[in-house]
Amino acid sequence: MSRLVVVSNRVTVPQKSGDAPAGGLAVALQAALEERGGIWMGWSGNSSGERGPEKLDIREHGNITYALTDLTDTDVEEYYHGFANRVLWPICHYRLDLAEYGRKEMAGYFRVNRFFAHKLAPLLKPDDIIWVHDYHLIPLAAELRQMGFKNKIGFFLHIPWPPADVLFAMPVHEQIMRGLSQYDLVGFQTDFDLDNFGGGLVREGIGERLEGGKKFSTYGRTFKGGAYSISIETKAFAEFAVKASKSSMVRKARQSVEGRDLIIGVDRLDYSKGITQRIDGFEQFLKLNPAYQNKVTYLQVTPKSRSEVPEYEQMQRTVAEQAGRVNGALGTVDWVPIRYVNRSVPRPLLAGLYRLAKIGLVTPLRDGMNLVAKEYVAAQDPEDPGVLVLSRFAGAARELSGALLVNPYDIEGTAHAIARGLTMSLDERKQRWEKMMEHLLKYDINRWCDDFLKDLTEE
Ligand code: ADP
Repeated sequence: MSRLVVVSNRVTVPQKSGDAPAGGLAVALQAALEERGGIWMGWSGNSSGERGPEKLDIREHGNITYALTDLTDTDVEEYYHGFANRVLWPICHYRLDLAEYGRKEMAGYFRVNRFFAHKLAPLLKPDDIIWVHDYHLIPLAAELRQMGFKNKIGFFLHIPWPPADVLFAMPVHEQIMRGLSQYDLVGFQTDFDLDNFGGGLVREGIGERLEGGKKFSTYGRTFKGGAYSISIETKAFAEFAVKASKSSMVRKARQSVEGRDLIIGVDRLDYSKGITQRIDGFEQFLKLNPAYQNKVTYLQVTPKSRSEVPEYEQMQRTVAEQAGRVNGALGTVDWVPIRYVNRSVPRPLLAGLYRLAKIGLVTPLRDGMNLVAKEYVAAQDPEDPGVLVLSRFAGAARELSGALLVNPYDIEGTAHAIARGLTMSLDERKQRWEKMMEHLLKYDINRWCDDFLKDLTEE
C-alpha cells in the first residue's frame, strides 16, 4: 500500500494525554495515515515576523510524521486572512457582496501555496498518494506538477462550491479552475456542489462533463470528480453523549433550565451560519406562541472566530445586541429567553447539552455540510429523541431527511418549525430520528475517508 500524505492549512498533532480529544476529522485522517504510514503537513499556526521560517518542525508519532511550518506575518495576512478568508470563503458561501479582492492578497495566496509545495517536495516519494484539503490550498497540485511530480493527488473541498454566476465574478477564477484541473480527483461535499462545478465548466465553455458527471475535462486534463459527505464518528459520539449526560456539568445545566424546554444552537460566529435570522425566528416563535413564553430557553453557543476580518467584528456586536434586545423586550424577572454564550464549551458539556435539548436549531444560510447537525442527531436519547430543525442550504440537508427542513431567510417558517418541533408526538420524533441515525451510522467519518481514498487510488 502506498504511503499517504495529507496537506491541510492546519494540522492536528496528537496532544498529551489528558487534553481534549481531537475532532472526528483528525481521528479519521490519523487512522488512515497510521494504516498506510505517512505524513501530515501544514501551517503551525505561528508566524515568524518577516523572516522566513528556517526549517520544518518535524514530529514523529507512531507511523505518522507531522511536518509543520511557520509563515511570515505578511504570508498570514495575505494568504490566510486576505485571500482565503476574505475572498474564497465569501465567494464559496455565495456572498459576492462580502468578497474583498486585492492583488497583493491574491499574489500572497499563490506564493504561499508555492512555498508549501517547495517545503513538501523533499519529503515526497514517487508512489505517495497525496490528499490536499480545503480552499486554502487549491493551487498546491499545480505547483507540485510544475516541479515534475506525477503522484496521484486528490483534493477535498470542505466548504460549498458556488454556481457559475458567483464563481466567475471572482477575478482569479481562471487560475483557481486551472488549479483544480491538476488534481486526479476533486471531491465536494454534495451532489449540488459537484453539479455547480461541472455546470460552471460547461456554461463558461472551458470544459466538459464526462461519464455522467463522474469525470471532467478542462485545461488539457481529464480528472475525476465526486461527492463525499463528511461526517462524524457517529457511534463514538453517541456513546460519549450518554456518558456526558451523567456528568455534574450537564446536571447543573439541566437544573438551570428548570423544567423549561431547551432549544440549542451551536455555531462559530460566522455570517454563513444565519445566527441573526435564527434569533429573529425564535423571537417570532415567542410572539406567535405566547403560551411558550417562560416555557422555553434558547441557548446559543457561539465562539468568536476570525476577529481580524471586519465582518466578523461587526457581527459580534450585532448578535450580542440582538439577543439583548429580545431578552429585554420579552424576558421577565425570572426568565431569560435567549442565553448567548460567546465562547467555546468543553466537548462533554456540548454533547450533554445536545442530548438535553428538545430542538437542535441549525439554520445556516449556506454550509458545506454542518457537523453540528450530525452531532445533535447522534447525541439523542433513542427513547425520547429531540427534533432537528435544519436549513435546506446546509449540505447535511441532502442526507438528513428526518429533519424539519426550513428556509432560514423565511423567519416565520423557522418560527413555525420550532413550534412544530416542540409539539411533535413521540412516535413521529422516533421515526424521524431512527431514519437519520441509521444513515449516520452507515455513513460515518471513516466511510467518508475510505470512499475518497478508494476513488483516488483506483483507476
Ligand atoms: P464549521 O466547520 O463551519 O465551523 P461545522 O458545524 O461543520 O461548522 O463544525 C463545527 C465543529 O465545531 C463541530 O464539531 C462543533 O461541535 C464544534 N463547535 C462549534 N461550536 C462550538 C462551541 N461553542 N464549543 C465547542 N465546540 C464547538
